Order: sequence, then C-alpha cells, then structure tokens
Amino acid sequence: MSFKVVCTKCNNPRKNEMEWKCNCGAPFKVVLYDKFKKDKIIKSIYSIWRYRNFYPYVKKEKIVSLGEGWTPLVKVKNNLWLKLEYLMPTGSFKDRGSSVLISGLLSELSNVKSFSEDSSGNAGASMAAYCAKAGVKIRVFVPEKTSGPKILQIASYGAQIFKVNGSREEVSAKAQEMSKEYTYIGHAWHPYFRDGIRTLAYEVAEQTNWKLFERVYLPVSSGTLLLGFMEGLRHMCISNVINSIPKVVASQTTQVSPVYRKLKNLHYSPPSEVKTVADALVNSNPPLLEEMTKIMKEMDGDAEVVNEEEIIKASILLARNGFYVEPSAAVAFAAYLKHLNENLIKKDEKTLIILTGIGLKTHFT
Ligand SMILES: [Zn+2]
Repeated sequence: MSFKVVCTKCNNPRKNEMEWKCNCGAPFKVVLYDKFKKDKIIKSIYSIWRYRNFYPYVKKEKIVSLGEGWTPLVKVKNNLWLKLEYLMPTGSFKDRGSSVLISGLLSELSNVKSFSEDSSGNAGASMAAYCAKAGVKIRVFVPEKTSGPKILQIASYGAQIFKVNGSREEVSAKAQEMSKEYTYIGHAWHPYFRDGIRTLAYEVAEQTNWKLFERVYLPVSSGTLLLGFMEGLRHMCISNVINSIPKVVASQTTQVSPVYRKLKNLHYSPPSEVKTVADALVNSNPPLLEEMTKIMKEMDGDAEVVNEEEIIKASILLARNGFYVEPSAAVAFAAYLKHLNENLIKKDEKTLIILTGIGLKTHFT
C-alpha cells in the first residue's frame, strides 16, 4: 500500500518527516492510494492494529501499543447506540491517534530523542503514555486551568509539564517555540494523529456488520476526531465496503463553536475567556477549521451547539444510566437530545453517539 503526505491547502508534498506544517502555513494530510479491503483486516488482533495494513507508513516492528481500540458498542434503547471510546488505556479516544502517530514517527525517524506537544489535557496524557511505552521523552504544554487529575495523569507517565497562562492558541505557540531541542508533534497539527482516528470508522462499520448508522453525533474541538472519522468513512465508501455515509453532527459548545458558525455562515467572535464545564472543547481557532468545513460540506454533515445547562443535564443523564463520561463527551449526547426534542431525528433513524472521554478526570457537579 502506498501513500503520500501533502499540504491541505497548496497540495505541495511534505519535504521531510520532521515537517509538521507546510511552508504556506497550512496543515498536512495523509492521502492513501489503496482501497479498503475486508480481507486485509487481521482478525486475531483486538486493537486498532487489526487495521495495520491500512497504515503504510508504520513498520510492524515499530508499533507502540497499549491495547487501544476495539471499544464496546452498546445499544441503550431502540435506535440508539453508544460507542464507549472512554474505555481506552488513558481514558479517551486520543489513544487511537497517539498510537498511530508515535508508531509512525518511530518508523520514519531513526534518531528520535524527545517530543513536545500541547493539549488541554486528554491528548497530553495519551501522548505521555505512548512516549513512556516507547521510552521517548516528552514535554507537554497545557493551559493553566487544566484539571488536577489530567495534570497528575500526564506527570505519572513521566512527562515534563509546562503550564501556560493564556488561550489555547498561546499554549500551542509555546510548545512550538521549544521545538529546536524537542521535535514538535502537536496532535492538532500532525497528520498521523488524526489519521489514526480512521480506525474508529472501520471499527464501527465492522461491529455493525458493515451496515452503518443513519446519524452520528461527536464532540468537536481541534477536529482530529471529526476529520479522522470522516476520512475513514470516505475510505470505506470509495472502496465500496459501505453504501451510504451517516449524517455526522459536529457537536460544540455555544462559547467555542467555530465549526458550527462557519458551516451555518454565521459570524463568530470567541469570548475573551472561555468558561465551560466542557474543558476539552476549548479550541476557538483550530488550525483544521478549513478542512473540517470542507469535508462537512462534501459529505453532507451537520453541526449543533449546546449551552452549559444542556451539557450538565446530558452528563447527569448519562451517569444515571451508568455511563460516566466527562462533560466534553456529553456535549455530543446533549446535541442529540436537542435534535430529538426539536423532532429533527426520524423515528427509524439509527443513531450513534461517540463518548470520547472518561468522567474520572473532570468534576461537573
Ligand atoms: Zn501548503
């Protein structure tokens, strides 16, 4: 299987494996040449690496895995399913991206010593865990307000933590500044991270016997989940493995809603200070915004926003049913409840909610 890494804007190829963004300032993306084939799945492996054959830039012997993926798909009532992505080695869906990114980098770079990453918490914890497994040093830059349990988790894996007093963008800038000694591998920029999320689409398709849902709700911040999932759907669709694409609903908070606003052609000026229980959804100016709106238009996606009250209500309702997720994960469920309430979902439409992060790291009551 072959592939290339090119700029999302000017289509220029990546010149070397150390580059994390194009000279023109835009992010890179992975383009695959080969089709998805069911007989290429390695059915004896119960992790994302059962789809190893669709990751041509990863060498088998360089795979760094903690058993991520193959998460439960649970039917909770008629036409409603939950994908428990919070049951991952580090408690969030990010492990799909970290495992693929770290494995890909170790496959390509012969002399890797140290990485640097920026995160609102979950991605930092995930990257720190995979770097610990790989025996590579990592520096994680986080916003000052990152929750105590997330900081503790990152530190426990042995990563060096830098708290930055400023916006999510300023945290990114700090991590990139230090990139001379430490190779910058920001998950919101590096194409291999979101490429790892393709496995989520493959997995859901396989778990439903290739008959996907009509609707999928997922939370959106930096866009890695949305783009990776949709690229996975597109890959299976052009490979004639699935016949139709679900309506994917990008779920955001009213305060941090750049994708929703852009898709609906509404003006967006982010608040000077974001105050939300959804502390993983704080990227008001994501570098992948253009890519997200493009793919949503091409694949007929939709977007919704929910307020703080709706998020807390959805978090509690999930917990009362036994699903303990963080408020940022409940944002997708809150958007579903809103659409249900507004009669936007037809009775026979099978719906999936992606529950992204575990509740143990964030307080909401
Ligand atoms: Zn470019």
